[in-house]
Amino acid sequence: MIKVCPDCGSTWAGGRACEDCGGILHDPYAKDAAEALPKGIWKYIRLQYGARRGMLVRVMAFLTVPVVFGVLARRAVLLPGAWLALGLAGAALASILAFLTIYWLAGRAVRVWVLRKGQLNKRRMARAVLKRALGSRAAK
Ligand SMILES: [Zn+2]
Repeated sequence: MIKVCPDCGSTWAGGRACEDCGGILHDPYAKDAAEALPKGIWKYIRLQYGARRGMLVRVMAFLTVPVVFGVLARRAVLLPGAWLALGLAGAALASILAFLTIYWLAGRAVRVWVLRKGQLNKRRMARAVLKRALGSRAAK
């Protein structure tokens, strides 16, 4: 559920009033949304969803670390003697590399798919993403 402030264009995860300017938030999926909300508001909504998608991919990247390490480490423990330590180190390195690759790709994807489409103000977007990240962490 996403709500939009028609006065300043901020998007919120819910609530009634905008925390930036105090305006009354609107549901962009409501029937009167086309009149109630300024044009171009979909850019912001798409940005929010894009940023969220990027974050989900990053969480997935984080989850690949134990999976990659587990798969490789299981093979490594079968190795004899000194190769075992080397194998484990290699497994750890591979899992970190997998994480960094996916993390980097997620950042690229958000930049290409979301920002280019919307042509958004980058400072505003950084603020929105940061706010969203901090907000979701505080909510948990
Ligand atoms: Zn506002």
